[in-house]
Amino acid sequence: SFMEVVKEVAKQGSEARDGVAIRADQKSYSYLELVSSAWRISRLLCGANLDVASEAGKNGSVLTNGVRKHGHLGGARIGIVAKPSAEFVASILGTWLSGGVAVPLALSYPEAELLHVMNDSEISLILSTEDHQELMKTVAAKTAAQFSLIPSVPSFYSEESAVDHLQDGEIDVERILQWNAEHSSEDPALIIYTSGTTGKPKGVVHTHKSIVAQVQTLTKAWEYTPADRFLHCLPLHHVHGFFNGLLAPLYAGATVEFLPKFSVRGIWQRWRESYPINGNKTGGGITLFTGVPTMYTRLVQGYEAMDPELKAASAFAAKQLRLMMCGSSALPLPTMQRWEAITGHRLLERYGMTEFVMAISNPLRGERKAGTVGKPFPGVEVKIIADGESGSDSEEVGELCVKSPSLFKEYWKRPEATKESFTDDGFFKTGDAGTVDEDGYYIILGRTSADIMKVGGYKLSALEIESILLEHPHVQECCVLGVEDKDYGEIVCAIIVLDVEAKKKAEKESRPALTLEQLCSWAGSKLAPYKLPTRLLLWDKLPRNAMGKVNKKDLKKKLSSV
Ligand code: ATP
Ligand code: MG
Repeated sequence: SFMEVVKEVAKQGSEARDGVAIRADQKSYSYLELVSSAWRISRLLCGANLDVASEAGKNGSVLTNGVRKHGHLGGARIGIVAKPSAEFVASILGTWLSGGVAVPLALSYPEAELLHVMNDSEISLILSTEDHQELMKTVAAKTAAQFSLIPSVPSFYSEESAVDHLQDGEIDVERILQWNAEHSSEDPALIIYTSGTTGKPKGVVHTHKSIVAQVQTLTKAWEYTPADRFLHCLPLHHVHGFFNGLLAPLYAGATVEFLPKFSVRGIWQRWRESYPINGNKTGGGITLFTGVPTMYTRLVQGYEAMDPELKAASAFAAKQLRLMMCGSSALPLPTMQRWEAITGHRLLERYGMTEFVMAISNPLRGERKAGTVGKPFPGVEVKIIADGESGSDSEEVGELCVKSPSLFKEYWKRPEATKESFTDDGFFKTGDAGTVDEDGYYIILGRTSADIMKVGGYKLSALEIESILLEHPHVQECCVLGVEDKDYGEIVCAIIVLDVEAKKKAEKESRPALTLEQLCSWAGSKLAPYKLPTRLLLWDKLPRNAMGKVNKKDLKKKLSSV
């Protein structure tokens, strides 16, 4: 299980123990501190006398010094509400050590959404830090959940060395070994909610086994090592930030440095600090970064606005990183190209979902093909199930189906949904349409439910059209969707955010900044006539969720009703 890491840290010599696991708020936290804090939290949880449902929990025998044997929590759900921090990580590990199921909750959820998720996952206890306690106490009081503050994790550089800081026997290696022996890796470990792009977020249950399978795959594919330092600025209630940016680097013994929240300036600055253009490298330089496409688009904009000197320093620094990755939604080609021109990095794009975390990826070494998400990871099988009525250019278009050791166990309390999402031979139906090119690289065409439009007799991919429109010099962001139409079934509607310059200029000349005719005459040489938008909306911004995604289903409904 993932607890192997914990065990190793508990057993190993001083180097692994003192290695920096987390940096947050200018403080460093060693692996030892993290693990000992996890241990403390697991005691706290075991002492909480939670009303656990399973028999295993009720009968969990009591070991010496009051700590119940693993299994005490018997799969009770522990909600975790903390900003990205050592406390967050210790809470996850502590929950696992005590046999609980961790449920990381979004910090950005309004109360109603929190209540939905907490009631849905039947959370027994909420772990939260001081800055969130007011809200969480109120919310907990409205559910059956208890509330507990997360004890703060001592900081590496603050006082004595890590080892001195701990009382003797704080980490009981024997007990962790016993934990491993008793624990079934098929047990649920995590409920993580989907992004809610196509409806209410669904709770996805991962087991210790599926987590470890994923973490090992990522560590290997991207060659994470203890020398790596990850700059992390993604939410932790979603698999991108949780697995790619946190668990996998920790599994590899690397350092994860949290930036409290996404900040274009903060990121560029941290890179420049890591690699001063004319100075000596001070150590502790960032080597890894991952983000969603909108982050890179914003980072490009931030760069363009810098003065030449700062540009030079920023580009120099970014070039020194070892690897930059992108995922969670389609990476626009212009962003990818601009990024490569500025930083020299061809972004590594990969494809994932809450249900199997990551399954298809461009390679660390070897060709990263623009517009594709690469090839299946070792051990992953992908097949395309065509629906037989494809109007697309390629024969091999259909729904992507995935079999992987990292596949989730089930949708929480949704046996029907779970059943429906698997084929008879055990492939998970992703709901995404895709195809594969002659070199075996996969191309994502979008969600069958929202990105595949049925216009006249044709089936069109919104993502394909978006990728073309984004090449227009004044188009900054765009969202293409099918809007109901009584003649055609659906028509192609493009919602476009123009760049500021284009908007200003048009305003001055008091004319529309872009008309449908102009857009279509520009796109006419790049898109077949039936793929051209027939409706154009110019908006100031796109409505995006915490992962930068646009809920097209919602938009579709709204636009179809007017
Ligand atoms: P919900 O399932 O609640 O509607 P969601 O599907 O957005 O929300 P996630 O599991 O976070 O929740 O996202 C997975 C989806 O993100 C995939 O099904 C796919 O549509 C999209 N996606 C992820 N990576 C890529 C990528 N590289 N290119 C295109 N789409 C991607
Ligand atoms: Mg989904």
